[in-house]
Amino acid sequence: MTGSSLKDCSTCTACELASNRQTVVISRGNPDADVMLIGEAPGAQEDVQGIPFVGRSGRALDQLLQEVDLDPSRDLYICNAIKCRPPKNRRPKKAELASCRSWLDLQLAAVDPKVIVLTGATAVEAILGIKGGMTQLRGQWQSWNGRSVMPIFHPSYLLRNPSKAAGAPLDLTRQDLTAVRRRLCER
Ligand code: SF4
Repeated sequence: MTGSSLKDCSTCTACELASNRQTVVISRGNPDADVMLIGEAPGAQEDVQGIPFVGRSGRALDQLLQEVDLDPSRDLYICNAIKCRPPKNRRPKKAELASCRSWLDLQLAAVDPKVIVLTGATAVEAILGIKGGMTQLRGQWQSWNGRSVMPIFHPSYLLRNPSKAAGAPLDLTRQDLTAVRRRLCER
């Protein structure tokens, strides 16, 4: 992919995921945003529409962002580590993450975000190289190439754990996103 620009991503066939996808799912939101949110991979709705985080998970994510005064269209650039839907929504393989990494690197270079939000363990592993449970990782500021990085639970996990109680995953994620908004004000 040497020499490619991001517009070439929509015709990429660099890994086996190309054979089953309907569309390549690149991004939504603002390419000039200070926050870049990176998830795992597209699901069924995303594959049909060609836009990341548009299913139930995406709606849950947008609602949480709005609750902490972050506008998903204005304040964030939203994408995934993998641009094509893995069959049956399985976890992306290491080789697929490696194949797709150059597209993610192009996005990081183009957006040049101050803060990166990583949703779920696959995104954390892809960027930080850390393997571990999100219960331990979430809410802990990390650093990557001089940027602040906040790992949070994936919204699909929040849908499976809908408790509104204080200290539940939903509440913790709201706290993590509030920390992201505050970090933007510090700069
Ligand atoms: S997942 Fe990434 S590397 Fe694989 S075909 Fe799609 S865009 Fe290309």
